Amino acid sequence: MPEDAVCLTVDLDAISQNWRLLNTRVRPAAAYAVIKADAYGLGVEPVARALHAAGCQRFFAAWPAEALALRVVLPDAWVGVLMGAPSEDWTALREARLVPVLNHLGQIEAWGDEAARHGPLDAMLHVDTGMNRLGLTPGEVDTLAGEPDRLRGLQIQAVMSHLACAEQADHAMNGAQREAFEALCNKLQPVAGSFQTSLANSSGIFLGSEYHYDFARPGAALFGLNPTPNTTNPMAEVIRLQGKILQVRRVDSAESVGYGAAFLVKQPSRIATVPVGYADGYLRSASNQASARVGGVRVPVVGRISMDMITLDVSELPEANARPGTVVELIGGDYPVDAFASDAGTIGYEILTDLGRRYPRRYQQSAAG
Ligand SMILES: *Cc1c(COP(=O)(O)O)cnc(C)c1O
Repeated sequence: MPEDAVCLTVDLDAISQNWRLLNTRVRPAAAYAVIKADAYGLGVEPVARALHAAGCQRFFAAWPAEALALRVVLPDAWVGVLMGAPSEDWTALREARLVPVLNHLGQIEAWGDEAARHGPLDAMLHVDTGMNRLGLTPGEVDTLAGEPDRLRGLQIQAVMSHLACAEQADHAMNGAQREAFEALCNKLQPVAGSFQTSLANSSGIFLGSEYHYDFARPGAALFGLNPTPNTTNPMAEVIRLQGKILQVRRVDSAESVGYGAAFLVKQPSRIATVPVGYADGYLRSASNQASARVGGVRVPVVGRISMDMITLDVSELPEANARPGTVVELIGGDYPVDAFASDAGTIGYEILTDLGRRYPRRYQQSAAG
């Protein structure tokens, strides 16, 4: 633990190790790293560099601005843009050699116009196989199949879709989406030339090789979230959030702790305050639910989580082991992101992308990368 009152440690070696594990697991397919939303909140620049050094050559961002930032970090990598682009950004995409994922006929037309002016352009198509969120509808796929001119000037590198329930291995949606995906790809084959195919996110990789196709698109698992929530997490842990106790006070029984007097002390207790709160992504919904670790001992969060502070009941610990300056393990170890997320009533994805920027981050990387 460094000097700071709160510190987030990001283990870049663990991210690299996770990518290698996934890339090996999908072989002979490949794992393209999804590092949208600032690499799930962990910092796209160090994460992209680490992954690239580990051998990952292909990345997805969500928005053009993210992809352009990634292009600066990795001048030679292949970078796909999941959202495609609003019209004014198409030129920027072309100039930066980014590959948009085209999600509806309007985007196909806009990128096709760009190709008509500047020569053939690479693209990917996203087809909707039942999520009803993004991608070409089956009707739009029929339109393309009937009017191949719409794809003129576009080299379709890949056709992809996205699974709705991949983390539930026995969910009927998985097989249904896979069948719908293959049917839509078959319709596109005659008009889109030879293209690669992709269906799996992190959890999809663990559904079996029939979901791997040519490449998978893991995000969350790279960052240590469990892609198989009902079994042991196969991924290496990536983040650790630590804080230091600011002060400890003795509270007599029948008194309360924090806003709304939401926790009543039942017996004389010692309450430790740690300067991390919901403004730092330590979600308020975890009030009276989450816990932390002090010297390996579980200590519950008591009372409401404030904007800048939490309160822990450290009565179980000897006074000398929980005093101002004592390091508290907030997230990590036997209380991983997924466990904190569950106590906050959400998923690890939301915790990672919410982790605050108010405290320093420390990136851990061995010389070997
Ligand atoms: C975010 C995203 C992914 C990565 O999903 P994870 O569950 O984080 O692995 C893959 N594909 C698409 C289209 C996405 O939007």
